[in-house]
Amino acid sequence: KVRVRFAPSPTGGLHLGGVRTVLYNYLFAKQHNGTFVLRIEDTDQTRFVEGAEEYIQECLKWCGLEPDESPLHGGPYAPYRQSERKEMYQQYAEQLVKQGHAYYAFDTPQELETMREKFKTEENTSPQYGHGMREKMRNSLSLSEGEVAQLLSEGAPHVIRIKMPEDETITFTDMIRGEVSFNSSLTDDKVLLKADGMPTYHLAVVVDDYSMTITHAFRGEEWLPSAPVHILLWKYLGWFDEMPEWAHLPLILKPDGHGKLSKRDGDRLGFPVFAMNWKDPKSQELMTGFRELGFLPEAFINLLAVLGWNDGTEQEVFTIEELVERFSLPHVHKGGAKFNYEKAKWFNHEWIKRYKVEGLTQKVKEVFAENGLESYNDEKLDEVIELVKDRCTLLTDFWQHASFFFIAPETIDVASVKPKWNEDKTMFFDILSEKITLLEDWNAQNIETLFKETATEKGIKMGELQLPFRIMLVGGKFGPTVFDIAALIGKKETIARIRKGLS
Ligand code: GLU
Repeated sequence: KVRVRFAPSPTGGLHLGGVRTVLYNYLFAKQHNGTFVLRIEDTDQTRFVEGAEEYIQECLKWCGLEPDESPLHGGPYAPYRQSERKEMYQQYAEQLVKQGHAYYAFDTPQELETMREKFKTEENTSPQYGHGMREKMRNSLSLSEGEVAQLLSEGAPHVIRIKMPEDETITFTDMIRGEVSFNSSLTDDKVLLKADGMPTYHLAVVVDDYSMTITHAFRGEEWLPSAPVHILLWKYLGWFDEMPEWAHLPLILKPDGHGKLSKRDGDRLGFPVFAMNWKDPKSQELMTGFRELGFLPEAFINLLAVLGWNDGTEQEVFTIEELVERFSLPHVHKGGAKFNYEKAKWFNHEWIKRYKVEGLTQKVKEVFAENGLESYNDEKLDEVIELVKDRCTLLTDFWQHASFFFIAPETIDVASVKPKWNEDKTMFFDILSEKITLLEDWNAQNIETLFKETATEKGIKMGELQLPFRIMLVGGKFGPTVFDIAALIGKKETIARIRKGLS
């Protein structure tokens, strides 16, 4: 039975890379009728951010990628927060010490600092705590048994470190990269259990993947260097046959800068799923996210799915059902995937076009509300959405493209009609508004006919009149057919806007 997990640390927002990891986990689980677990890796108290766990859960919900088991949903392997599983880890750390695969280290932070300074050389600017060095430090390998016993009985603060073997080749088969090998000498003796009794990520991830019977582990490529430590722990703890299969996902990269992208758009790569109500540790800013930019969850998922994967055809737009059906590991790329904001917006546009009006109503209302427009004719809204939705790339574009149906434009782009303005045109619109008053059947067809007749009477080309009409109605050079706009705005309001335009 397939069991996968997403194991974030609640240290900040959820970004593109993280959600893509969630997505691939999710797709793989659903495809195999498996289980998707959310486990919160909160053993590093110093990096803990209040609210980050709730934020992660909300993001998964918004994306439609809800886990089957999680701190919120519960499940047979609860608790799903590592801080609540603290007792489990300690015994395994002690077991490793007994077996000789780990050891107590009593070095104070000061001593570690001194080591880094003292043994720093030109070639090796950050000396590591490992073989060659561990002998020089204060630990249960370098000290006598008596000294160690003494320190322990005194309650001297200590950590437990893994003893990395010397010059051993550690090999495993990654589902994406194939065979990967490491030389054990290149990795330092990572801390497994901290002085406060909390495990580090390395120990906790192995113990939990084992105890939660995880079968496949998808995670970002940045964890690849930690894999040898994890593999050794699986071996040393006697669980090697149950080790999950690994898939290290390629990084998501910035666009190369040769394209047409502005620097600002490239930076969108660093945006979280949605706004965080705490400051981003890097930028020290309150971050806005993809949701606020106006992305639809379906589009967001779609664009992430194809950042590093394709189904072998030209198809780019996929529903989640199609993704579950078609996702396959051999089609996940080994190289990094480039994030292109223009392309991301393209996906959103495709999805807005595919959406039914009813699905957009509530979202457009939210956009209106954010801009302070609260009361308007609800029935008209759906007609308006139908008319303009194909022009909107982001949900936020509905403000520009739909709000003028309900409120007169505040400013009018007079400049673009001014040079060609003359008395005849003023007269045309005067007559037009009078005729409009008498028009009984108010629809686009009739308005257009009336408009044409009047233009012919005055001997002015239609082309010269439509733009000013548009600008009077919507404020600028955008929007659908101007007669459709007038029809929806209504007779009274159309006249009012012509009057205002002439004044
Ligand atoms: N806690 C790790 C993180 O924050 C999880 C890495 C893994 O999936 O093994 O990404």
